[in-house]
Amino acid sequence: MKIILYLLLLINAQIIFADDLSFKEIQPGIYVHQGEHLDVDHGYHGDICNIGFIIGDQSVAVIDTGGSLKIGRQLLKAIREKTSLPISYVINTHVHLDHIYGNAAFISENPIFVGHSELPKAMLLRKEFYEITNQNFLNIPPEESIQIPPSLLISVNKPQEIDLGNRKLRLEAFPSAHTNNDLIVVDINTKTAWLADLMFTERTPSMDGDIHGWINALEKIEKSNYEVIIPGHGTPPTNNNKAIGKIKSYLELLRNEIRQAIDDGMDLQDALDTIARSEKNKWELFDVQNARNINMVYPIMEWE
Ligand SMILES: [Zn+2]
Repeated sequence: MKIILYLLLLINAQIIFADDLSFKEIQPGIYVHQGEHLDVDHGYHGDICNIGFIIGDQSVAVIDTGGSLKIGRQLLKAIREKTSLPISYVINTHVHLDHIYGNAAFISENPIFVGHSELPKAMLLRKEFYEITNQNFLNIPPEESIQIPPSLLISVNKPQEIDLGNRKLRLEAFPSAHTNNDLIVVDINTKTAWLADLMFTERTPSMDGDIHGWINALEKIEKSNYEVIIPGHGTPPTNNNKAIGKIKSYLELLRNEIRQAIDDGMDLQDALDTIARSEKNKWELFDVQNARNINMVYPIMEWE
């Protein structure tokens, strides 16, 4: 009887555990949850990117909310386990669906939603496609895929600061790079930069913007000498320069080999089979993502 009770308790504990997201306090008051490295076309469950929050003396800022209302609610729950301070800002780092569909979980907290000045347009453009993806993979009916666009907009080259109480965050919008609406968040006191999808560690970087812009953005980030950097996917690196160098090398190789292929008159299929293959063992989900990157960049570079 005792054993059965114990087993029941264990099962119960696991159910509770399964409903909670795990967070790491990467710097004092900065919490990060790491999503799993799953492709959006294979077993996507809405929890594949890094999301989190920063606690100041007076309020809290959320950075990215996950791919569904469910993940957003779990994030809110985790915040409430740490603090009862008001959530003053919900920041979206860019449009990708795995980062924005938890926003609606925060409506009752009445925060200011923040994003790149190009984000509202990008959300609208992808709305229908994302609703179909959420329906297919997460079984969420379109009317429950709720987008909350930002009302505080950050423009390129016009960084803005927000204050959480003795804790200032600098919000910096980039010209087209990973997407045309990338925003980073820098915690000024600790020199921690939430780089979102301008930075990938284990997972193959996904190109959805401008390859030259992304390489430029990484060069700028490299020069900023942040103490801690938080990628959009993967583990925050222990050696920042090495991690930035790794993603830059991949993007530069991709660009060089695409340029060469175009000069050689190689057709797209051969390009897909050969370009950047030497990077294969360095990244997760390489085959599927590298092919998408070539497909995206090749036709654009053909016109350069
Ligand atoms: Zn992304």
